Amino acid sequence: MKCIHCHENEPNKESGLCDNCEEKESSKINGILYLPALGLCLAAVLAPINFIKYLNMLSGDLPGYVAYYLYLGILILLIDLFITYFTVWSFFKKKKNIKKVIIPYYIFNTVVTLYFTVFASYLFKMPLDTPDIRALTSAAVGLIFWTPYFLFSKRIPVVFSK
Ligand SMILES: [Zn+2]
Repeated sequence: MKCIHCHENEPNKESGLCDNCEEKESSKINGILYLPALGLCLAAVLAPINFIKYLNMLSGDLPGYVAYYLYLGILILLIDLFITYFTVWSFFKKKKNIKKVIIPYYIFNTVVTLYFTVFASYLFKMPLDTPDIRALTSAAVGLIFWTPYFLFSKRIPVVFSK
């Protein structure tokens, strides 16, 4: 019997893989890490779309406070765009410092979401709608679930080691 992956070395009984291949397998972005990976891919697509959407709203005659709301919103989205792409890059390059990148990303993501949902609802006296609730839920999941996962999971330093 040889390793089921490289067909060269002696395999370990449980996995059928040799030490070398086991090590490679454990450093892959797989299993539960597919979820934050998917979230980051979605964010990478949505961030520029959102930015352009709010930029387009600036044209026309806007009351002063609406214009200020949009200016600040566009600035926040521009920062969000940079943070998102830097996080996506660090994640898929499996950078060692992923914790220092992805945790501020989840925190900033929550701030952005609050600005465009709760704050907008307060400012324009409009109730929160279903997409707002969905956005708030997804930001909360990032903050409440993924932040402790990236901080404490033993897999994180194994996968993100470059
Ligand atoms: Zn092998």
